[in-house]
Amino acid sequence: MNLNIKKIIDETYDKVKVIKDGKVASYIPQLAKVDPNIFAISFVDTKGNMYSIGDSDSKVAIESISKLFTFSKAVHKFGENTLLEKIGVGGSSLPFNSIIAALESKTHTINPFVNQGAIATTSLFYDKNHKKFKNEILNNLNIFAGKQLKLGEKIYHSESETNNTNMALAYILKSFNRFYGQVPSSVDVYTHQCSVLVSSKDLALMGSVITNNGIHPKTKKHILKPEHCQFIKRALRPAGLYEFSNTWIVKTGCVAAKSGVGGGILILIPDIGTLAIVSPPLDEYGNSVKGIKAGEIITNKLLHFCNKNKKHKKAKKKTKKKTKKKNKKKKYKNQFKKTLKKYRARK
Ligand code: GLN
Repeated sequence: MNLNIKKIIDETYDKVKVIKDGKVASYIPQLAKVDPNIFAISFVDTKGNMYSIGDSDSKVAIESISKLFTFSKAVHKFGENTLLEKIGVGGSSLPFNSIIAALESKTHTINPFVNQGAIATTSLFYDKNHKKFKNEILNNLNIFAGKQLKLGEKIYHSESETNNTNMALAYILKSFNRFYGQVPSSVDVYTHQCSVLVSSKDLALMGSVITNNGIHPKTKKHILKPEHCQFIKRALRPAGLYEFSNTWIVKTGCVAAKSGVGGGILILIPDIGTLAIVSPPLDEYGNSVKGIKAGEIITNKLLHFCNKNKKHKKAKKKTKKKTKKKNKKKKYKNQFKKTLKKYRARK
């Protein structure tokens, strides 16, 4: 059985291309200027082969997808228990930057994939030397990308100038002792990490480190421990797409995904590969409309193929075993007949 990933992706691309729903993010003024027509899909399989269609070299701000990589670095450096204790993995039924959620949730930080927990995760790396602090976080994204990523200067300045909600969230967390560095410096580094520019190709490669148990498909560097990758995926599943996360899980069956308001979405499909989609118009939750649609179709087709293939392989193995047994029996029968014939002839 041959999986034609290219055909699945091309057909889905054409089907989803015509969707006109969604609006580009505008609460960060520079994001409102992004080209809404950018549409790209990239896929990296478990061997590191990449296939892309559309504007796969067009760059958008990584935004919340960066949370996944800073969290991964934190798990690697501090261990799972520290993250469970200092950030938590609770779900949220409120928007990703909700002040109410920061005040009312039990942990205040909620989880690493909403702004509250993400800014607190970045603050775990706080260093008095701001440049060192910033470079450590930005360099981590480069390690996952396997190359030097560029900062979207205009996006960074635009987000910095309008960062009041994130500053408020950080001060609320500080007041509950749930913030681990100086507020303005940590929020600034968080804003930097969100403003890094990526294409769908970059995203697919970055995500495949986690899909592939910690090994970068191109540089072959061991970036994360396999057990940490499992933990990261488990933590991501119920939270990566905000209030839509549960619906996504029901629709795709426990496939971890992370979106960002720049229009990117990253989908980690176990044992198959990593899918990245870029299309800036967003739905009410802040997830790319085309990204969710194309992601759901492709993920389900790939999973369906894999299940069918597993069953097919199992059936093939069973038939092979049966034939082998039958042949063995036949061989013994023939041998016996021959010996009997010889014996009779001697007589
Ligand atoms: N930088 C954005 C913010 O802090 C990221 C949000 C997102 O992508 N959901 O609001």
